[in-house]
Amino acid sequence: MAEIHNELKWSFSRMKTFDSCRRQYYLRHYLFWDGWKKDAPEERRTAYRLSKMTSLPMLAGAIVHNRIADAFKRYRFNRTSISLNEIIETARLDWERGIAESESGKWRTQPKQYCCIFEHYSGVPDWKERARDMWDRVETSLRSFDASGTWADLRKTVPVRWLAYDGDPFESVLVDGIPVFGRPDLAYDGSKAENPKSRCWIFEFKSGRPRDGDVLQVRYYALVAAADWGFDPRSVKARLVYLHPQLIEREMSVDEDALADAGRVLRQSFDDMKSVLADPEHNIPLDISAFPPTVRSDLCARCFYQEMCEGRGTEASRPAAAALEDEDDFDPFV
Ligand code: SF4
Repeated sequence: MAEIHNELKWSFSRMKTFDSCRRQYYLRHYLFWDGWKKDAPEERRTAYRLSKMTSLPMLAGAIVHNRIADAFKRYRFNRTSISLNEIIETARLDWERGIAESESGKWRTQPKQYCCIFEHYSGVPDWKERARDMWDRVETSLRSFDASGTWADLRKTVPVRWLAYDGDPFESVLVDGIPVFGRPDLAYDGSKAENPKSRCWIFEFKSGRPRDGDVLQVRYYALVAAADWGFDPRSVKARLVYLHPQLIEREMSVDEDALADAGRVLRQSFDDMKSVLADPEHNIPLDISAFPPTVRSDLCARCFYQEMCEGRGTEASRPAAAALEDEDDFDPFV
């Protein structure tokens, strides 16, 4: 098998980690590398294991996204609509398997294969109760998806014009010469036959509440749509679909100023990431001392790497209820 290399690729979530805690960025994007090998140094193995950890909100988000991707897949390939009951029952099995895997402890030796849940791992006393509440989020989100006008609209479209969806294999795309990871849940070519590449629709489903970052993320999707599918980025329209606690379907466009701003931030952010490399060509980082821990202790409370971070991971930084509730939902491009 060809050897894989740790390549520097930009993503919105990578930028968020870089900007919020350099130490976490180092552990998640560099120290973890090779940590899947049995003979790797212990600290690399630990960083790798922790990089595979999830949390209850993240697990909920991942299951909701996977079920929606499966509904898309079935519709795309044979135009069948999966029933809500089947969606929920499959999600329930996924959810119960995640909880059981975490309790089994098999992730200690096989962190990629078995789920480890942060709230369980860090000894949150009422984690089982939280898990029950979080299941309600999964179920409500899937019911919202099934009832949404967006899903009804998508089933009126021609699947051959679907450009990409969550279940597709995905490589990074070059935007302005920068390899970028990031793709919406679904994209659709809505151009009229007489005016090709004049309208790209982007759909993004969220199992958490609306956040400012959601709008920013759409700007990068517009850049990806231009680079990957040849649309004018100004032709991109997006629909953000919030599934919990209640259904909100919000449409937005990306104007020229927003696109210029996204391009500028992307270039600056990528340069910043390269500035902490000893060898940019091979993506080799500077010494760990160039990646200081954050001074924002609110971020530490929900950080998976507390045990690898001096002075963190104490009783005082145990995950607080409020901090965990605010946690990001699913993002495959971490
Ligand atoms: S525990 Fe805090 S300082 Fe340490 S890596 Fe995590 S967020 Fe950064």
